[in-house]
Amino acid sequence: MATPKDQAAAGARNGDAPPAIALRGLRKSFGDVHAVDGVELDVAEGEFFSLLGPSGSGKTTVLRLIAGFEAPSGGSVSLAGADVTRRAPFERDVTTVFQDYALFPHMTVEQNIAYGLKVRGASRKEQAERARAALASVRLEGFGGRRPRQLSGGQRQRVALARALVVRPRVLLLDEPLGALDLKLREQMQTELKELQREVGITFVLVTHDQAEALALSDRVAVMNAGRVEQVGTPGELYEQPASVFVASFVGTSNTVTGPAAELIVGKAGTFGIRPEKIRLLAADAEHDRRDHSQVHGTVADAVYLGDHTRVVVDTDAGERFLVITQNLDTSAADARALPGERVLLRWHRRHNVPLHHAS
Ligand code: ADP
Ligand code: MG
Repeated sequence: MATPKDQAAAGARNGDAPPAIALRGLRKSFGDVHAVDGVELDVAEGEFFSLLGPSGSGKTTVLRLIAGFEAPSGGSVSLAGADVTRRAPFERDVTTVFQDYALFPHMTVEQNIAYGLKVRGASRKEQAERARAALASVRLEGFGGRRPRQLSGGQRQRVALARALVVRPRVLLLDEPLGALDLKLREQMQTELKELQREVGITFVLVTHDQAEALALSDRVAVMNAGRVEQVGTPGELYEQPASVFVASFVGTSNTVTGPAAELIVGKAGTFGIRPEKIRLLAADAEHDRRDHSQVHGTVADAVYLGDHTRVVVDTDAGERFLVITQNLDTSAADARALPGERVLLRWHRRHNVPLHHAS
């Protein structure tokens, strides 16, 4: 069933409603560094969109170009159908949450949140009411009188979110907003961020280098590499149908086969990705089944028991090293310890051979 969000995304693609954000041929160079090198993107109204890529791939620069903190070397930025390429940041209906939160230390939480309303000339009464509502939306009722230093990292992050949301932007830009938090708090804040976006219904663009975070939160993700977008898709599309070797190895992990090994194992020329959890680890003398399956023999080089699953490294007879992830349905730590040196057969359904192109 199509959700309103699916329809919004489809509408943006069909051109019925203008996309919340449209980037066309966007470029930004710093001297001879091409930080952003020809980016084309449409983000639909109400979408939770992420820019995912390794450090230095140009994510922050794209965000700063959308917000207007940088002027592009080429191309254009449109918001809700209006070309804003030459407009100043305050003339764009976007708000940015930075990784370091940038709260004013000498102001109370409530003053921090109300600040954006104050500079826009809102009455004291309106400031107080909206600041309190924003605090409630990030579940910090009663914290309005504290100073930032009297809060935990997660609470400061929520204040930064409330401060951004109180001005009711059409688009919220978030640059690695959870980067400073420890893993547990980070996972909790991910859930809260997603709930918050559903509640307020505005367009979120999240920058992250953490593929798990991008997959968990986003309607769609753009994978960036060296200033370019390698692929745009839903989390499922990126994981199940990665277009390139880069995406296959950056979003999750993947075995790749190419050259003679591909012809031997897949039966076709080319480069293919095979996800480690799609592969079954069988005894070396298991019955052959080549009709719907690809298979290869090998010797276990290493097996790491991780409680719920075991990571098995196999040196295949085709010369490629494979990673296989097996769920420990019936097996235990002792089984994992016995694996190294064993001869095994790896088998997976042919549909898990995903063709990849090398270009990046
Ligand atoms: P990311 O956010 O993905 O880590 P950035 O957008 O911050 O990447 O940076 C992309 C590239 O542009 C990097 O090589 C970075 O060093 C360079 N860069 C970013 N900002 C500047 C700047 N103000 N001056 C010079 N180089 C910059
Ligand atoms: Mg960055």
